[in-house]
Amino acid sequence: MLIDYHIHSTFSNDSVAKLDDICQTAIERGISKIAITDHVDYKYPIQPPDYALEDFEDYFGTIAQYQRQYQGKLDIAIGIEIGLEEHHLETYDKLLKQYPFDFVIASLHMIDTMEPHLGVYYEGKTKEEAFRVYYDKITSFVESYDNFDVIGHLDYVKRYMPYPSEEGDHLLALDAVDRLLKAIIAKRKGIEINTSGFKHISNASMPHFDIVKRYHALGGRRLTIGTDSHDARFVGYKVKETADFLRSIGIKEVMTFHNRQEITVAL
Ligand SMILES: [Zn+2]
Ligand SMILES: [Zn+2]
Repeated sequence: MLIDYHIHSTFSNDSVAKLDDICQTAIERGISKIAITDHVDYKYPIQPPDYALEDFEDYFGTIAQYQRQYQGKLDIAIGIEIGLEEHHLETYDKLLKQYPFDFVIASLHMIDTMEPHLGVYYEGKTKEEAFRVYYDKITSFVESYDNFDVIGHLDYVKRYMPYPSEEGDHLLALDAVDRLLKAIIAKRKGIEINTSGFKHISNASMPHFDIVKRYHALGGRRLTIGTDSHDARFVGYKVKETADFLRSIGIKEVMTFHNRQEITVAL
């Protein structure tokens, strides 16, 4: 079974993907289960200042219509992608208590108010330092915060780096990656395999398949696959290849979520 558990609809202000097109494309590409995971990131350093859903009643009401319309053809989870930042965690807790989300991706988009996208984060850092600081930051969130299901695009720091992309980048600061993976496993949380990385300079999933292997070898069993589509044309992008890779290393199951409860599905 194929899943795409990271999709942004037009409820995210950086997405052009309409729900109709998302659902149609998913079905055409043989995807059985999707999660709509729109952004909640506050006080962003680039315009608009908030990449955040505002009208949650509308979000839930609209997606519920699609759930009804596609019942029996496509399983649609109502998710959210929260941006990890210390001073917004309480707000997220309130939101997640108030609304019945199925699934929560926690992603680190900003490091000490610096968005890698803007470049300043990398200034004065070697590539390895930039990676290490990023991984360590997620580890400290994982150790202190519980209200999420999977960590999104675990090595997003690679996406906007000004350094040349090299084959072994995913092996840099591997001790920090291991600490992060162990923290995630100890908390009984999961990681996503974010296929959008295949479109970026690293031309690899986020995290790299080797890191997925490592997560599995360390005892990690909670995996989702997501395209991070902001355009319906990319729904299902490289999902089949990722499932094939997982099967090739003996992983036969991924997770989906309903009411924040994990459900194991056979690949
Ligand atoms: Zn993200
Ligand atoms: Zn995303």
